[in-house]
Order: sequence, then structure tokens, then C-alpha cells
Amino acid sequence: MVRRRGFYRIGPRRRCYSASVIRGFLLATLALFWLLVIRLLLRTLAAFFGGGGHTQETRHPGPRALPVEDLVLDRVCHTHVPRSSALVARVAGRDEHFCSAACRDKALAGVARAS
Ligand SMILES: [Zn+2]
Repeated sequence: MVRRRGFYRIGPRRRCYSASVIRGFLLATLALFWLLVIRLLLRTLAAFFGGGGHTQETRHPGPRALPVEDLVLDRVCHTHVPRSSALVARVAGRDEHFCSAACRDKALAGVARAS
């Protein structure tokens, strides 16, 4: 057992102690840094060797598959539909967009009922 003799009494010992604390802190920081570097490396390697890495590949097309496109409002069900996939019908002399034929028919039926 090591007795921490003169630990609080002698100045130089204290400085030694704080120096070792700083060294420990630096070591911990260094260890953390290397941990991060290794993690990054492993991830890069996994992405590289994974080839068609499922998680990476499936995660990326998501945002790309949804290009910024005009959304049109289906006033029947109040759903916003991408313009390209919306159904267009002339209702009461106006082109309107619908999410489905059912909504379009509902709108047309509503107009027919109203007039
Ligand atoms: Zn709809």
C-alpha cells in the first residue's frame, strides 16, 4: 500500500498531482478522440465494403425520391397531392386536383347536386 505521504503539505507534490490529473485528462481526451476516429473509420470501411450497404442505400434515395414538387390541394379530403400524381378534372369550369377518382367523383357529384 502506498501512503500518500505529504500529499497536502508539500507544494511540489501537489503540482505533481495536478500534472497527473492534466495528463489523465489529456489521455482521456486522446482516447475519446481515437475512439471517434476509429468509429468513423469503421463506418467508412463498412460503407466501402458493404457495396450496396442496405442501410446507407435505402436511407439516401428517400429524400432524393421526393423531389421538391408542387403540391396541390384536394379540396374534397383536404389532402395535398404532388401535382404529377394528382387527378385533374374540370369542376364547375375550373381545373381541380384530386388524390383519387373517388374524390374527383365526389366533387363532380357535389357540383351536379348544387346545380
Ligand atoms: Zn382526396
